[in-house]
Amino acid sequence: MQTELVNAAPERLRVDVEGVVQGVGFRPFVSALARRLDLSGFVGNDTSGVFIEVEGPPELLSRFVAALLDEPPTLARVERVRTRALRTTGDRGFTIVASTTTAARHALVTADAGTCEECLQEITDPRANRYGYAFTNCTNCGPRYTIVTGVPYDRAHTTMSAFSMCARCRAEYDDPDDRRYHAEPVCCPDCGPALRLLDARGAPVAEDPITGTVERLQAGGIVAIKGLGGYHIAASAFDEVAVSRLRAAKHREDRPFGLMVAGLDAARQLCVIDDDEAALLLGPERPIVLLARRTASVVASAVAPRTGELGVMLPYTPVHHLLLQQFGGPLVMTSGNRSDEPIAFEDDDATNRLAGIVDAFLVHDRRIETRVDDSVTRSVDGRAMLIRRSRGFVPRPLRLPWEFERPVLACGAEQKNTFCLGRGHQAFLSHHIGDLENFETLESFVTGIDHLQRLFTVTPEVVAYDLHPDYLSTKYALDLPGVELVGVQHHHAHIASCLADNGVPGPVIGVAFDGTGFGPDGTVWGGEFLLADLWESQRAAHLSPVPLPGGAAAIRQPWRMAAAYLDAAFGGEPPSGLEVARRNAGRWQAVRAAAAAGINSPLTSSAGRLFDAVAALLDVRDEVTYEGQAAIELEQMAEPDAGTGYIASVSDDEIPRVWAADLIRSVVADRSAGVHRAVIAGRFHHGVARLIVDMCDRLRERHGLGTVALSGGVFQNVFLLRLSAAMLSESGFDVLTHRQVPPNDGGISLGQAVVAAARDRGR
Ligand code: ZN
Ligand code: FE
Repeated sequence: MQTELVNAAPERLRVDVEGVVQGVGFRPFVSALARRLDLSGFVGNDTSGVFIEVEGPPELLSRFVAALLDEPPTLARVERVRTRALRTTGDRGFTIVASTTTAARHALVTADAGTCEECLQEITDPRANRYGYAFTNCTNCGPRYTIVTGVPYDRAHTTMSAFSMCARCRAEYDDPDDRRYHAEPVCCPDCGPALRLLDARGAPVAEDPITGTVERLQAGGIVAIKGLGGYHIAASAFDEVAVSRLRAAKHREDRPFGLMVAGLDAARQLCVIDDDEAALLLGPERPIVLLARRTASVVASAVAPRTGELGVMLPYTPVHHLLLQQFGGPLVMTSGNRSDEPIAFEDDDATNRLAGIVDAFLVHDRRIETRVDDSVTRSVDGRAMLIRRSRGFVPRPLRLPWEFERPVLACGAEQKNTFCLGRGHQAFLSHHIGDLENFETLESFVTGIDHLQRLFTVTPEVVAYDLHPDYLSTKYALDLPGVELVGVQHHHAHIASCLADNGVPGPVIGVAFDGTGFGPDGTVWGGEFLLADLWESQRAAHLSPVPLPGGAAAIRQPWRMAAAYLDAAFGGEPPSGLEVARRNAGRWQAVRAAAAAGINSPLTSSAGRLFDAVAALLDVRDEVTYEGQAAIELEQMAEPDAGTGYIASVSDDEIPRVWAADLIRSVVADRSAGVHRAVIAGRFHHGVARLIVDMCDRLRERHGLGTVALSGGVFQNVFLLRLSAAMLSESGFDVLTHRQVPPNDGGISLGQAVVAAARDRGR
């Protein structure tokens, strides 16, 4: 954000405002501001944002410009304000001028936003026209990205085109002084969408939809609820039977369910919430926020088994507000799907797929154009860390200090896929697509790319992809005709995404710790120290590889990693009598033999698998039912003040290898000495942070780099992230961590995009 006052004290100014300033009520705001200060002139949209001509006493003009920066409308993001002096014209009054068609075509589609305070008051005010109306919205809130079908962004290009505005809504829409001025989805009970309640078979029920839903939930029922970006499945979070039944029906064993509560006070009854966390909950993005659960919190144990956290969100549509106000208690609000399928968002599909899971459907007749999952975030030392960047954030672009000379498409990775379009200084990261391993997800990947290309008029000339030949995203990229292809190594993409996230070009020492990524040497990488900038990366050190016994099976069964790491730590002769060996005695020897012989056991330097091994050794769990489960439970068990960490030695190769197996030996030694498991888990975390700092120190000596970027899914581990960042800072490093994009594979596409752009620009 910058102000360039070219000429002091002019009497008429031209002001250009860039950023997210269209479709967010910016022109009415400017017009109201000018009239408040008694200034004359006009405001309009053009291709790069909002332009203003304003005339009056110099002092008031300065106040006017300051207010543009200081008090813009809720959903606006002012990135740049430029002013220049003009000759005065002596005009009177302040007006909003119509947009040119070119300007309209360039207006960016904004993200969906949670119901604003004023709309909420209307739906709860019995005297208001929109009292109890589930589709109330205005320029400050409501559906956007999820309902947009094309460009330019106007009503005809949204799924609201099926409803024609009544005279009253039209008057609000046309009135520059109204907060619904040019709010494209504006509607009311007379002209807009309506709710309907259906029974388990999809037949209409003649009851008030909200009351009928609430009654069913109170009676222990499970109800599918059509929301903003897809269907949720809801049940009372206090009802152990209902929540367990939901788990069984969804084939979801342990992965925590998200909750929706009526408001901040209700959230505080379940969780401990500081100011930063409250701000995340209340933001217009309305993400799920991961919060420390109160020990006294009474939600059913099946909501989030074996974790001290709850994922909580506040209502973000009028439907949610109406439901929660009547229902009172917290609701489980989980995505409407079975196990790993994408969330249902089309009505017929939802009734088919969710039949047999739910007892009723709360639906409406506004079509969802794009499936968008709830975003997930948490606060780390006052800063947000996104785990999933989707509804509420997408398609807000990230503004980069570098330019995409040619339009870029980056196809992302396989897990938690997102893709990214780059144009000018902007990177448009897509909504969460999901794990690209079935036809339905692939289909939503392909249609999503097509949709975003049209919305942002980007025709990619350069296409970036992961080097893994079997990723469906890679195959998609390689099949595209007539584009320039740029392969980007997985962990380079992680580090580049962290650089882009921070607007720093590098070079840096990149610490990329994750579960799995394709290594050019034929091994599975995932515990990498890279020397990296936007253009290239070089492997500078890594965890010493161990076998991944059984390949994918080892990812689902951490005990296999314990076996592999024990053999690495004890030269094939681990101590006898270990619990993990006893529990898995039936397959233990066979798995070790296969690993030793290299049968279906690729080598991996994965840091994620190291955490798995320790989790199994500490009897946390032998199998996982969702990704990262073992590491999450290990982190939660760890005693933070466990003293100094275990020490890993380092090989003196050209590319040094860190003997993580040393940590395993220490774990086993402490275990047999009767040290408490929580303390061992704590010492292990300290040990990993310590090996990171020690290696970065070495690399700094050797290569003279003083900045470290931390990326990869392992850094979702807040204990490890905090510890590593603190120790690195103490050692004199500048530390880069993620803020706007996830450290996990959801951020990979951004990294790919900026690498492709850098290579396209040339050095
Ligand atoms: Zn509103
Ligand atoms: Fe990764």
